[in-house]
Amino acid sequence: MLLAIGCYQPQRLPPPGAIQYGPDSATQNLLIPTVPPPSVAPLSIPPEKSFAWPADVPLKAWRYIVLHHTASKTGDVAGIHAEHQQRKDAGGNPWRGIGYHFVIGNGDGMPDGAIEPTFRWRDQSSGAHAGVGLYNDYGVGICLIGNFEETPPTARQVESVKRLVAALKGTCGIETNGVVRHGDVKATECPGKFFPFGEVATTPAEVAGRRPRPPAW
Ligand SMILES: [Zn+2]
Repeated sequence: MLLAIGCYQPQRLPPPGAIQYGPDSATQNLLIPTVPPPSVAPLSIPPEKSFAWPADVPLKAWRYIVLHHTASKTGDVAGIHAEHQQRKDAGGNPWRGIGYHFVIGNGDGMPDGAIEPTFRWRDQSSGAHAGVGLYNDYGVGICLIGNFEETPPTARQVESVKRLVAALKGTCGIETNGVVRHGDVKATECPGKFFPFGEVATTPAEVAGRRPRPPAW
């Protein structure tokens, strides 16, 4: 049974920190943010660990990675997809389905550490995960199965999210200060106090341009 997928409990709203907005962001929330331009990252991860997931279309100019948990003990892409299809946006239009771009399993519903891209990554469409237009439009939404207010993610989940963040940084030119927790941009505890954010956000960029390779599990 799928319970409490999503993470919108208003609990706190810390300042966005390093995230800076364009000068007109008070009136337009879809401006490209003033995150520093992409830099050429050094090859700091051995090539044999490099991987990426191909999309069906050219990659969008992503500038953020927004990290989430499901706030549930179990879950998979199909279950979240079905649940999100029941939601409607502010205009009353139904969501197209799962709002995230990637989901990482915890061994309960999906294999532990498995990274599964969704249709939003394949067609490079905006997410429906942040609750903030800027981060939905320019942020890659990654959701880990689990409730990290109660327990930490599994070791394989941490390894996988670091590999995914490294690949996205390298491939999309996303800077470390563009990696944020959901709770950094909206009033929510997501992804939970046990999520190892510093370790994940600071993982070095993987060199861009490598051929895609599936995860080892
Ligand atoms: Zn969230």
